[in-house]
Amino acid sequence: MKRLLTTMTMTALMVSGFSALPTQKAEAATTYKVKITADGVRVRTGPSTAYRVVGSVNSGQTFNYLGVSGSWTKISYGGTARYVSSTYAKKYSVTTSTKASSGFSRPASGPITQGYGGASGVYGYTFHNGIDIGAPTGTPVYASAGGTVITSRYYGAYGNHIMMKHTVNGVSYTTVYAHLNSRSVYVGQTIAKGTKIGTIGATGNAFGAHLHFEMHRGSYVYSGTYAANSVNPLNYFN
Ligand SMILES: [Zn+2]
Repeated sequence: MKRLLTTMTMTALMVSGFSALPTQKAEAATTYKVKITADGVRVRTGPSTAYRVVGSVNSGQTFNYLGVSGSWTKISYGGTARYVSSTYAKKYSVTTSTKASSGFSRPASGPITQGYGGASGVYGYTFHNGIDIGAPTGTPVYASAGGTVITSRYYGAYGNHIMMKHTVNGVSYTTVYAHLNSRSVYVGQTIAKGTKIGTIGATGNAFGAHLHFEMHRGSYVYSGTYAANSVNPLNYFN
């Protein structure tokens, strides 16, 4: 119920025109679709009957909404922008909760030994931009979502680490898996969600075996003092 209320609040904000959503709390996104209301509706290359017909669609079919032009509705038809008469196209909104359908899952089992957020600074950072999952060396680490490996190396404070790039619900994310004991993927590899990519260890700047896991919206940005573009992974797991 709490999440439902949050979703409704976010929708209300978007409808009333507040486009600057707080990135850390963005748990819902609204997209618009078009439902065709008659059979044999012609699909054209432009917004008038003077344009070429490239297909026909039937009642009940849905398409992504791209805009309007006069009395024509612009839709994504086979991946291309096309037009149908607005008389036979009903626009509707779809609110998706990024929490419920985020596509991300916990990358390893074990207790959260340090959460996301402000930190004491004793380990060299005053903001912990990820979560730590404590588990014995050798515990499997899995891809949190499907994506592409962009980093797989032993370097610096992260020790053995892997970074992956993902696109979920049209938003790009980068995940970081640090302090690994072993890595079993290489740069450029496309990995399905849940694939084992390595094992938990204590390499780099780690006091005891754990997985340090980060999620960033967009590309990886380092910060040890504030969130930058990192998000709390616990808000994304399902
Ligand atoms: Zn950590």
